[in-house]
Order: sequence, then C-alpha cells, then structure tokens
Amino acid sequence: MKRVKNFSPGPATLPLAVLEEAQAEFLDYAGSGMSIIEHSHRGKLYDAVHHETIALFHELLGLGDEYKVAFFGGGASTQFALTAMNLLTKDKTADYLVTGSWSKKAVKEAKLFGNVHVAFDPSADGGAFTKVPGSGDCSFSDSPVYVHLTTNNTIAGTQYHTFPECPAPIIADMSSDFLWAPFDPKPFGMIYAGAQKNIGPAGVTVVIIRDDLLEQCNEGLPSMFDYKLQTGKQSLYNTPPVFPIYMVGKTLKWIKGNGGLAGIKERNDKKGALLYDTMAELSDFYRCPVEASSRSMMNVVFRLPTEELEKTFIAEGANNDFMSMRGHRSVGGVRVSIYNAAELGWIEELTAFMRDFAKKHG
Ligand SMILES: *Cc1c(COP(=O)(O)O)cnc(C)c1O
Repeated sequence: MKRVKNFSPGPATLPLAVLEEAQAEFLDYAGSGMSIIEHSHRGKLYDAVHHETIALFHELLGLGDEYKVAFFGGGASTQFALTAMNLLTKDKTADYLVTGSWSKKAVKEAKLFGNVHVAFDPSADGGAFTKVPGSGDCSFSDSPVYVHLTTNNTIAGTQYHTFPECPAPIIADMSSDFLWAPFDPKPFGMIYAGAQKNIGPAGVTVVIIRDDLLEQCNEGLPSMFDYKLQTGKQSLYNTPPVFPIYMVGKTLKWIKGNGGLAGIKERNDKKGALLYDTMAELSDFYRCPVEASSRSMMNVVFRLPTEELEKTFIAEGANNDFMSMRGHRSVGGVRVSIYNAAELGWIEELTAFMRDFAKKHG
C-alpha cells in the first residue's frame, strides 16, 4: 500500500490512525456482527457514537450548555441559506464581511431572506482578497442581527488571526479551519463547518448555535431547515449522516489524544512556519500574495516567477507524491493545504523539494 502526501483543499487528508481504526471495525462494529453503517440510527450502538461526538465538541471547545451542537447534510453551502432563513426577515439586516468566494456565496443566499449590508469587501472596488479586515476596516450597519464572516478563506489563502470587534453575535463559516487551534467561543453566536476540510469526510456539516440566537429564529420553517427543531432533537429528527458523524467522532478523539486543540495548534504552527519561512528565504523565486498578518495556516498559496514554472512545479511535485497542489482555478498559482492531518514530515520533504526546484529553475 502506498499513501501519498495529500495537500488537497477538500475533501482532504485524514489521520491515518483514524482511517485504520475505521477499516479494522468496518465489518463488525463493537462485536455486533454489523458495520456501523448497517445499524439503526435509533439503536444503542449508534446512539452512543452520536452523543459522544456531540460531547467531544463541547469538551474540545470548552462550550457551555448555552451552545447546542447539530449535524446537517447539504454541505456548508446549505448553511449559507439556512442562517438567513432562520434569522433574517425582510425588515431585519445582517452584516457580511466578504473576504473571498465563499463569503460572496453566503451573501447571495442571505439576500433571498432579508437585508444584507456588506461591511467589508475589497473586491467591490476592484481589489483582491489579500487580507482579512481588522476592526477599523469594517463599516457596520446600525443594528445588525448578526455579523457573518469566513474564518479561513480556502481559495485566497487568508485567515483571521484576530477577529474584528463586531456590533452583534458573529456567525462564522469555519469550514476550512475548524478545530485548527483553540479559540474563545464567546463572540460567536453560531459556527458552522463542512467536515471534509479539517474534521472528517464529506457528508456532514456541524452547526454550533447559542441559545440567544435560537430564541430569535423564525417560526414556520420546514422542519429540516429549522435550527430550533434540529437542535431540540439533537439531529435525530430523521436519519442523520451516520457514517460521516462516526468518522468525525473518531477524528475528534484523535485531536483529543494529540493534546487537544492546543496540541494540534503546536503541530500546525510548526508546519505553517516552516512553509512560510522557506518561502521568505527563497523570495526571489516564491512569492506569497497574501499580506503577512492574514496568512492562512491551513491553505498556503504562492506564486512562482511564471505560470509555466508553476505548471512544472505542480507536475514535478506530483511525480514526487506531493498531490493536489494546484491553486483554485479562479486564482491560479500553487496552493498547499496543510490541514490538521497533514504531517510535519510532509512539509519537511516539500520544503526540501522547493529548495531543489528553485535551484534548478531560478
Ligand atoms: C469548502 C468550503 C465551503 C463549501 O462547502 P460545501 O460543503 O462544499 O458546501 C464553504 N465555505 C468554506 C470556507 C469552504 O472552504
């Protein structure tokens, strides 16, 4: 068996230990003679998996009882609509910080349900998404219901390292940096994240929402879209995505076993620093388009002197088992996604490759 160094932006690499554990018990879960995916979602064995996974979110993030955890299908993209469907009306306004294509999509969906005030958007006057805003860069509306932001911009390679002061609870799309490091949940009224970047396979989106926002949710929504109903039933109103939830549970246990979020951050900091430091050292050849204070520790983007060299770099990289390093088609360049499960050893090998490549082609 060969495992490559998978730098895919998502679905992305998962910890080998998690995959192996799932493989080992795939045919016979806990001596039941059935796979976990063949069990009833109302049965005792799945029920334990479900509630243990919810409990692990509370434990790892230090969430109080005022935060409820729920699982949704439909990807993070569904939450772009559901946040607004639940919390906006035609006479309420929400503020959006636009820092890339995912936040743009969130704005588009929210406009279907209420008023959207864009409080930051460098692309509106032709700018590029090379930084995330600080407090002074945002112009908020008078009394927004919430402020929506994207904590890590998977395509642009930017990430908030401090959050702006906001006049309302923050709703954060954390899809591509969820659980990458510890953070204070207090400013966040709601967090959502598709699992397939940092915490599991595609097929489930985790929603964490606080009681004060739940109380403001609109009435009369379809059951499957209703945050109050779904959190009240702990996502067991209908059949939840059992297999992805089980895999997320295993990934959370892996995080816990690796020093929790503080331990994971230490790993991630080493990986990011090595990559950015190497780029700085070889700055005649590799150029990071992102402002220093906004650089993502999950999706590291850079340019080479020509597009031709970028193509060669990506192709030669693939020959050396460095996979999926092509930048998003909308921006080009190189993107190395180094989510939690990417190993420091991979980055050490990649930076050695980058040195050789620069020497050969520089
Ligand atoms: C990938 C991604 C999405 C979209 O996720 P889907 O699960 O495909 O809908 C949304 N936001 C961010 C920040 C992402 O990285």
